[in-house]
Amino acid sequence: MKPQRRTVEFKADTRNLFFHILTSCNLRCKHCYINPEQHGKETLDEPTVKEWLKIFIKGREDAQKTNVIFLGGEPTLNPNLAAGIKFARKLGYGSITVDTNGYLFHNILDKVTPEEVDFFSFSLDGSRPEINDPIRGEGVFNVCTKGIKEAKKRGFFVSLIYTVSRMNISDLKNMPELISKLDIDRFFIQVIGIRGKSAKHQKEEPLQLTKKEWEEVVPKVAHEVAEQGIPVVYPKVFLEKGEPFKCAAMVADNYFVFPNARVYKCPLCEDFPINSFEIQDGVLKRRPPITEMDLCHLNIPEGCVLNKILQPGNIEYDPAGAPKYKIACCMLKEEVKMI
Ligand code: SF4
Ligand code: SF4
Repeated sequence: MKPQRRTVEFKADTRNLFFHILTSCNLRCKHCYINPEQHGKETLDEPTVKEWLKIFIKGREDAQKTNVIFLGGEPTLNPNLAAGIKFARKLGYGSITVDTNGYLFHNILDKVTPEEVDFFSFSLDGSRPEINDPIRGEGVFNVCTKGIKEAKKRGFFVSLIYTVSRMNISDLKNMPELISKLDIDRFFIQVIGIRGKSAKHQKEEPLQLTKKEWEEVVPKVAHEVAEQGIPVVYPKVFLEKGEPFKCAAMVADNYFVFPNARVYKCPLCEDFPINSFEIQDGVLKRRPPITEMDLCHLNIPEGCVLNKILQPGNIEYDPAGAPKYKIACCMLKEEVKMI
């Protein structure tokens, strides 16, 4: 067996619900994409969490084809998280993931079981405190790794998310060792998105990576981790010549839900009130134009139109002014695992 890489195509018959159940957080990460002005400041109560979970599988016989990812802010700060997890399981969601910064508030590990949660996904942006903590906050590395150990001790599957930017790309090579030490089950490398705080500070501190920087480091580290038998997923970002471009908002069934009832199809649009849907009285309602979908329709030589509008720092042009490559949908992933 050796590590094999494959592009994970969008599956039209699989739904992913990215459910932000609050926007508050105990941390102030430098690249946080949460924007309370646009996403709301509410902490969803238990009846609302349950009602909204029902919306996305209502009337469908294939509930198991819907995955829910509970997010925040920090989702464990919402005291209704455990009830939401149990309810999602009862409704038949295919998989349940909790993305956490590792603080695990409200003793969440005491309130749910490995049968109820498929993965706790912890965010770490460095292999040691000297790299992670300037990005995520003083003392966060130690708290997060302690949380990982505790979750593993109790039999939960644990994934790790590392958001790569100019601030920490040089440290990514040190992650395979930490991942092995912490007995991580799945590794996600995420690329910095220029939204939320990153967008505000983009001028003073550009965080985006070039194609060269990305390709020299990320696939190699992913391969190394996969050699340990740990699956790795990372965004494709750059399309090779001839590779087809597809926009997930057009061909896949992803919903990014925020506490103010806005529902987006494209995560890059989340700083703007151009959401495709909103939840009104327990019903998912399509909003009138102009919404993100009117932009997603546009066909441009740079690939993703929202990338071109919001974060074009990753595009290069040839002397004739043509883009050298297309930027893939941010939802298109590469998976590397032992086969
Ligand atoms: S832990 Fe997540 S929600 Fe909290 S500040 Fe950091 S990136 Fe934002
Ligand atoms: S990131 Fe680009 S390609 Fe992907 S859903 Fe948004 S607009 Fe479409």
